[in-house]
Amino acid sequence: MTTWQERDLKLIWHPCSQMKDYEELPPIVVDHARGAWLYDESGKAYLDIISSWWANLLGHGNPVINDRIRKQLDKLEHVIFANFSHEPAITLAERLLKVLSKGLCKFHFNDNGSSSVEAALKMVFQYSIQTGHPEKKRFMCLSEGYHGETIGALSVGSMDLFARLYKPMMMDNIHVQAPDCYRCPFRKTRDHCACECFRFAEEAFAEHAGETCAIIVEPILQGSAGMRIYPALYLKKLRALCNAYDVKLICDEIATGFGRTGKLFACEHAGITPDVMTVSKGLTGGYMPMSITITTQEIYDAFYADYGAHKAFVHSHTYAGNPLGCAAAHGVLDVLEQDHVLEKAADTAAWLTGRMKDVFGSHPHVGEIRHIGLIHAMELVADKTTKQPFPGHKRLGYEIYRKVLKKGLVLRPLGDVLYFNPPLTISKDELDQAIAITKEAMDEVLGKASC
Ligand SMILES: *Cc1c(COP(=O)(O)O)cnc(C)c1O
Repeated sequence: MTTWQERDLKLIWHPCSQMKDYEELPPIVVDHARGAWLYDESGKAYLDIISSWWANLLGHGNPVINDRIRKQLDKLEHVIFANFSHEPAITLAERLLKVLSKGLCKFHFNDNGSSSVEAALKMVFQYSIQTGHPEKKRFMCLSEGYHGETIGALSVGSMDLFARLYKPMMMDNIHVQAPDCYRCPFRKTRDHCACECFRFAEEAFAEHAGETCAIIVEPILQGSAGMRIYPALYLKKLRALCNAYDVKLICDEIATGFGRTGKLFACEHAGITPDVMTVSKGLTGGYMPMSITITTQEIYDAFYADYGAHKAFVHSHTYAGNPLGCAAAHGVLDVLEQDHVLEKAADTAAWLTGRMKDVFGSHPHVGEIRHIGLIHAMELVADKTTKQPFPGHKRLGYEIYRKVLKKGLVLRPLGDVLYFNPPLTISKDELDQAIAITKEAMDEVLGKASC
């Protein structure tokens, strides 16, 4: 163990970690990073195939983004955002307005993903009261959904792993069984179905819509659930159902936004406009903690009144609209526009799909290879025919994580789902390196597991 690691472990409690695991696997102390690569203090390189928790959209140390931030830093690092404003926030809203689906036109800035979800929930809740429907005070969400770790966000998530223990602290929401295309209860496939599973949503709406102000979903891709991908048709149907029952639709694009699914926003796959959209992560290219809760004129108008009517949205975060975050976001939009990133990533993605199928398609423990945009995931199973998972206590995903780290790859599986969610600018050569390392580690770990 190096002294940096000892000094870290003496003081620091890392996120989402069993700290005892660090006895065997101490933290990697990163010194600097470029493109898709991290370099530790000894100079060892790691390929960051998960974009540092899905945030790093265009590579580390991107010169365009760096330059934007540097220039902003010399002018204004931060200012209170109530009653004050600044050019980078105003022009950012103007630029986003042009690329978002029509109807999303009011921008409420916050300072991380969870806080933008909290703002979205409170906003719709208050909207219902102020439009004469105080009885609409509950939320619906999809099973296996993930919207962040604060109590409100956690209670519209339904991944037991994160939420079970905190249930007594949480709101009583309505959890709708989500699409599960790999283990479809109707024995259909993702590309050839009529979203038979949508009946679970229809049943929930028939029973609960009267007491529900909104449903929140991750559009097209349930990320934390193991990169579960569902058909655009489901989202189209959900938009129509929400309209029919006067329930607002919140699309959490924190993970999917800014090109991750091949379109700038995942909602575009379905051609729908949500009533509220949350964005973060890729918004600043993973540089600065910033998020925006974006909504419609209709929702905004329900808050607009004389002060004495007490209709204002009284919700703030200290770093809302941080100018450096806005500058980073401008840099992201600059690069996306100038470098035709999405077109190039689409080409890389098609190539990657072919490579993954060649290398892993006939692997006895790869149950499914699923992909959207550059995101490619493999679900490992004990038995391919029955889709029987490996027992959780084997921690196969974690074993593979440890193995690939040694070989210079940061691949952080979700349970037994291995996935790539790299910067959109990654090269085919770098992806090939990631595939080779993953294959080696899988052979070493799964070879053992299947005996
Ligand atoms: C990461 C994520 C969040 C939470 O964002 P934080 O910045 O970690 O609070 C919420 N929703 C989705 C879909 C996410 O992927």
